[in-house]
Formats: sequence, C-alpha cells, structure tokens
Amino acid sequence: MTVTYPFSAVVGLDDLKLALVLNAVSPRVGGVLVRGEKGTAKSTIVRALAAQLPQVEVVSGCRFACDPGAPDPACPDGPHEPGEHRLRRAAALVELPVGASEDRLVGSLDVERALTEGVKAFEPGLLAAAHRGVLYVDEVNLLHDHLVDLLLDAAALGTCYVERESVSVRHAARFLLVGTMNPEEGELRPQLLDRFGLTVEVRASRDPGERAEVVRRRLAFDADPEGFAAEWAEEEARLARRIAEARARVGAVRLPDARLRQIATVCAAFEVDGLRADLVTANAAIAHAAWHGRDAVTTEDVRAAARLSLPHRRRRDPFDAPGLDEELLDELLRQTSGPDDDVPPDGGGGESPPDGTNPDISGLDPAGQERETGATEQTRPGPLAPPEQPEGPGVPTGRREDAGNGGRDADDARPEETGRRSGDGSGQVAAVAAPYRVPLLKVPGVGEGAAGRRSRSRGRHGRGIGARLPQGKAHDIHVTATLLAAAPHQARRGRTGPGLLLRQDDLRQVVREGREGNLVLFVVDASGSMAARKRMTTVKTAVLSLLLDAYQRRDKVGLVTFRGTTAEVPLPPTSSVEAGAARLRALPTGGRTPLAAGLIKAAQVLRVERLRDPARRPLLVLVTDGRATSGGDVDRAAALLHGTASVIVDCETGPVRLGLAAHLAARLQAALVPLDALSDLGSVVRAHRRAG
Ligand SMILES: [Zn+2]
Repeated sequence: MTVTYPFSAVVGLDDLKLALVLNAVSPRVGGVLVRGEKGTAKSTIVRALAAQLPQVEVVSGCRFACDPGAPDPACPDGPHEPGEHRLRRAAALVELPVGASEDRLVGSLDVERALTEGVKAFEPGLLAAAHRGVLYVDEVNLLHDHLVDLLLDAAALGTCYVERESVSVRHAARFLLVGTMNPEEGELRPQLLDRFGLTVEVRASRDPGERAEVVRRRLAFDADPEGFAAEWAEEEARLARRIAEARARVGAVRLPDARLRQIATVCAAFEVDGLRADLVTANAAIAHAAWHGRDAVTTEDVRAAARLSLPHRRRRDPFDAPGLDEELLDELLRQTSGPDDDVPPDGGGGESPPDGTNPDISGLDPAGQERETGATEQTRPGPLAPPEQPEGPGVPTGRREDAGNGGRDADDARPEETGRRSGDGSGQVAAVAAPYRVPLLKVPGVGEGAAGRRSRSRGRHGRGIGARLPQGKAHDIHVTATLLAAAPHQARRGRTGPGLLLRQDDLRQVVREGREGNLVLFVVDASGSMAARKRMTTVKTAVLSLLLDAYQRRDKVGLVTFRGTTAEVPLPPTSSVEAGAARLRALPTGGRTPLAAGLIKAAQVLRVERLRDPARRPLLVLVTDGRATSGGDVDRAAALLHGTASVIVDCETGPVRLGLAAHLAARLQAALVPLDALSDLGSVVRAHRRAG
C-alpha cells in the first residue's frame, strides 16, 4: 500500500492508509476519524488519497454530480433525460472549514425569494459538492455540534435535506467522510464519535532520522508539488487500479456465518453499544477481503477491521483512554477462528506474529508493515494471561476495572485507593472516586455564546419564542408573522388574485432561545489544608464530576490550582475533558494556601479568554475552604473578578467551622455550595439508579 508513502515518519500511518483505502473500496464502511497531534501530515495524506479515487462520470451542468447511469430522481437540477451530456472528472475533495455556516454546509433555500417572487431558489452547499467524493473536515472536534449533527445525518442517510419554513429540498449526498482532530484541543461527543466508521490514532515519530527525512520530502514537495507527484505517479496509478479492482469485487465477497459470529463475539466482548459496531466491522472486513483479492472474509480480515472499528466504540466515558487491547482481540479471534478459514492469509508480510502460536492471525498488513503497537507498548504485560472466566463460553471480558456503570456503585462506596506520590516529591496525589451527577450551575442572564446546555442564550439556535424585524438580510423567516405584517396592506397594494402581495419590509425573523455553553473555570485549592487524603479525594471527585458535567453541557473548561507560594494553570481553557481529568488525577497537593494568587491567576486567564472568545460567558467555580495562609491580599484579588459569575464550593468540614468561604462568597457575590451538597445529590441520583 503506497498512499503518499514519502511522508511516513508517523506512527499509525499504515493504519491510516488502510482505513482510507477500505473506505475507498466500500463506502459502507462509513468514514474515518483521524486522531493525532499537530504535524502528523494528516491532511496531506487525506488529499493524496482523494487523488487515488476512481474518476466519476457526471451529468454535465448538474450541480449535484448526478450519475448519468442512475440520476437522483429528486435532483433539484433534474429531471435528467437519458441522452444528456456527460463528462468524466476526478472525484471531488471538498473541505468543510471549521467556521462554516449551516447554509454553507447544507445549502441555502432563499425563503425570501420563495415568498416574494414565488421562486424555489436553492443554492447548493458543500454536501452537494462532495457527492460521490470526499468530504474532509480538518479539526472536526472544533465544529459546532449542530453542524456535526447535520454532517453525520447526511453521511448516514446519503441525502441532504434542507427545510426552511415548510419549503424543502432533498438531494443525494453520498461521500467519504474523513475527519481529523487533535484530542488535546477537545473531544467529540461519544455518540458523534460512534458515527465515524473507523478511527485511527497517529502521532509523529520520535526517531530523528525518520523525522528529518520526512521534512526533506515535505520541502521537496512544497517546492515542486507537480514534479514530486510525477515521481510517485506510477505507484499511485497502481494503487488507483487496485482500489478500482477491489471496488468491482466487493459486492461479491462472502461473509461466512462463522466469521459473522466471530465479529459478534468480538463486539460483545469489547462491550460496544448497539449493533453499529458489528455492522461497520462486517463491512470493513468485507472491504479488506476485497482489497486482498479474496472472495470470502477470513479471520485476518475480521482482525484488520476490528482494530479500526472498535477502539472508539468501547469507551464508556470520556475519562477512559482510547485504544484497543490487541492481546484480548487476538485471544478472542483465536477462540473463535473456526473451520471457515479455508483461505490462508496472503502472507506478503513474511513475519510471524509476536507469540508465534497463532498462524491464523497474522496481525500484519500484507504489504509487510509492522503491526502498530505504540498505544500498548508501555503496558504490554508479557505472556497472555488466561481468560478470567474459564467456564462458560470462555470469552474474556473487554471491560477494564471501572469502565462502566456496573463497576461504579462499588467504587462509590469505597473510593479506590490508587493514590501515589507525585513526580516532584513535594506533594501527595489523592485518588479520585467515580464521578456523580451535579446540580446545574449556570451563568445568570441571557448570552449569545456557542450552542451548549448550560445557560440561557439568544441566537440562531434553540426554540422559536417570537418574531422581530430582521437586521440586514433576512434568514430564518417567521412565516406567520410575515403574513400578518403583510395582511393589512393588501388592499392598498392592489391585490386582486388569490396570492398575497409581499414586500421586503414585511419579512419577519424568528427569535430563538436556547442554551449556550460557557467557559467554566475551576480554581482549586490544592494546599495542605485540603490535602488530608480522604478529603482531597472528595474534592477531586467533586471537581471531576463538575468536569464531566461541563463536558456533557459542551462547555469549555479550564483549571487553575494554587498551593505553596504560587498558582498554576494545569489546564488552559479547552473543550478536552480527557486532558482535564488526566491533569486532575495527577494533581499533587500540600503546602501553604496562596488564595490571592489563585484569584489573580484566574482573572488573568479570564481576561485572555475574553479576547479569544468574547461571546462565551465565563463561570468561575472556586473550590476552597476559604483559608489563605500565604501570598497577598485576598480582598484586592477578589476585586479583579468583579462582575464574573461565580460559585464557591465550600470545602470546610468538621464540627468547628470558620465560615471563611462564606465571607469570600459575599466578596465575589458568588453562590455558595457546600461540598456535601454536590455529593449528596450524587448519592441520591445513584440510589435512584440502583432502585430503577
Ligand atoms: Zn442532477
């Protein structure tokens, strides 16, 4: 396999190429999500693949890329007659920019023209342009959630549907969806993650030689893209032919019953939700078989498919690390590889699997690349342990200790004692128990921030609550209000026929109210006064629960901590809860309490964020017992936060209380929430869950 192999100092590159090829072979695989840090040439590789896709034949002049052999009956540019002009062109590669509007993506229906001129005017969007090609979304995790929803709906249905005020247009939109993301900049919601057929993790190689070579090639490529491409043209032509052959074959590939049961067993053992994983794995295995010229799916195909289709589906909450336990996968495949494997692996690899005991499961791409073990190399335990439940069907479970809700109740009662010393030796690290649901904390008033689920907002999204005159070009027309505005003038405008006479100034626009996500900045006291292990576990669990809540409400979150003499920002504002959870778990505690420093640092972070994302309103969540034993005047520091919506989680416990947090809350005009109130609510929720 050779897609852009000049750019190969990337760990996980072979997986990425394979995932893209499987999608090119069978559109049913459902797209690829590429997760990885910056500088891994993700987009170069995707663009290069698009160049390998077979050309498409289209009805000339059709803006919706209709196939002359089978034109879309609903095509807005149709109906197309059989004899119409046709042309061959490259499959499209359409990039969806992160800041695109909804109209840009799905197209825009000009309701204004429909009402005033009686014309159904549809301007196609990027989904139409991407039909029968690739839709590429760089940084898909930074797209607005509603755009991601539209995108994935279209990808799932193969159509784009636009409706505005009961005027609607539908057209075919089948495309290979490829997204990239840097997980450190924010996660996708799990249900959206699930909509990508395959995922691949890539990261830059740490090998200096490889890195230098790639940089050299990139420079050569950038200096002379055409000359560079010519050098690889032959390889690319070979690849394109192979993809075309596999495409022609894929419809005839058999999925033997034994292999289907194998897929079901693997998916069940990895505890994925629903049947989507089984379907994607089956389609990817079929594509993989076609890619290797086989007419029936083998265990090797199942393995290749499962490695790409399962990692993102077995995650139970955002705090689980991604990745797939490949030893478990191999064990499952070994137990279920039946007599249907009459076709031997085509064996170009020439290298035996690591343990040498299982010739059925090569784990190698036939082109001979090594299996990628980067994700598990740290934790590989050596010889494979026997399955935990030898009786019964003998299928080991894919669940890690506390991966799901099932293991959670036990953890709630007895926080796991996984505390350890921090690296710098200057503090201790308290454990974190399972998170619980917290009450809604929100910013008062009405904002205009990004769509989310926390505070009230007015904007283009949400429920319609009224109508108003548009400012500038009208969109989101409120039809009833528009008709009512026009009605009194009909006689004066000389109306005679059945239709209303509408004018521009009759148009009214919907006023919507919804919810916005906020910037939730946690400011956490990590000093010695909080550091008694039990107590810090409670505090960390509360913050983790708030963090999970922020994730579900699509907030941006940041974390400021203070202890000793200074405040730090272990997590600058981001939408990545994973990063926040990781930093929180590892957070050392101990030392004095520089409360003022923490407040000053929080004010600095908020000032920068106000510049970056002015519409997103901040909510400060200060977790403290209110004590300050070092560093600066608390009242003066608190004044810097004047006007910021704040909540203080009061961590003071014990029979004698000083009420210092309450004093601070008065200073900040903050709501005061006792720590117990957060966890009490959590235990109520858990009790309900148990009873139900
Ligand atoms: Zn058409």
